[in-house]
Amino acid sequence: KERVFSGVQSTGNLHLGNYLGAIVKFVELQKSYDCLYCVVDLHAITQPQDPLTLSANTREIAAAFIACGIDPAKNVIFNQSLVPEHAELAWVLNCIARIGWLNRMTQFKDKAGKDRENASVGLYDYPVLMAADILLYRATHVPVGEDQKQHLELARDIAQKFNNDFAESITRNGYGDGVFFPLPEPLISGPATRVMSLRDGAKKMSKSDASDYSRINLSDDADSIAQKVRKAKTDPEPLPSEEAGLAGRPEAANLIGIYAALSGRGKVDVLSEFGGANFSAFKNALVDLAVAKLSPITAEMRRITNDPAYIDGVLRDGARRAREIAQPNMDAVKDIVGFLR
Ligand code: ATP
Ligand code: MG
Repeated sequence: KERVFSGVQSTGNLHLGNYLGAIVKFVELQKSYDCLYCVVDLHAITQPQDPLTLSANTREIAAAFIACGIDPAKNVIFNQSLVPEHAELAWVLNCIARIGWLNRMTQFKDKAGKDRENASVGLYDYPVLMAADILLYRATHVPVGEDQKQHLELARDIAQKFNNDFAESITRNGYGDGVFFPLPEPLISGPATRVMSLRDGAKKMSKSDASDYSRINLSDDADSIAQKVRKAKTDPEPLPSEEAGLAGRPEAANLIGIYAALSGRGKVDVLSEFGGANFSAFKNALVDLAVAKLSPITAEMRRITNDPAYIDGVLRDGARRAREIAQPNMDAVKDIVGFLR
């Protein structure tokens, strides 16, 4: 059975990269798959979070899912900490994953920075918890941005090693012919798989970037969007009229990519319209487009966020439905590993 799982951390500042790289695809996939969309609050605390802000951020992400068009009746929307099997399976998978595999993860290196000795053990273990999120539901497809490709490969390696290590037990316990976990497929294509920072074309747009000018937040009003786009880093040349002309111009490529993704047009088509124009004219058009596309979502997010009891109800209902899948799968893992229950 095909099943989609994906998660977004409750770290605040939900941005255009999250929207184009992940949430737009979540909305599309609900038409053809059973989908679980999780606010991964256990992942959020791998870096320090203020408790009151954390719970507000969890509600904001859930509100964004719904405001963007994910139907909470048809899909399972929940927060990770409400389903204890995520942490439980992560422990078992910690004993499957190898230290050498985790040492290769670039997100840890980026997030831990220079003071690696002082990073939390949870930050190091982040990809194993992510593998547990996916494998707990035996999900087959995982829509993510390009930055999560390496973590998805690790999840596949963990699934494969679990299946190999326990092949005999899986079969003996009647859970399949030596294969318990399907190898999850990353779904990385989409309108914009890697949206870059507005301040630095070499860095991805991130919730955790210290500068609010680096990103367009889904909660930004029209004035903030206009200010951020007008201040966005560019180079002195006019825009090229062909895609090859974007080579070596990461900031220009990023803004054209955002315009193309938001308008549903190809980059070639966008460049045929704006080629030869200077950035200020193009930026004005981009502001108008971004405001037109995002302001209905922002308004809907505000409306939903004003009703925290509704959001909490959605999350609890989602968690109950998620556990109906998670519990039997966790029981199976216990049988396979040899835990008495
Ligand atoms: P943080 O900086 O705290 O890690 P984030 O912006 O990376 O925050 P996540 O919650 O880690 O957000 O990621 C949620 C989803 O958004 C993931 O599927 C991730 O791949 C995707 N995503 C994040 N940033 C971008 C981006 N700049 N472009 C495209 N997709 C992105
Ligand atoms: Mg991230």
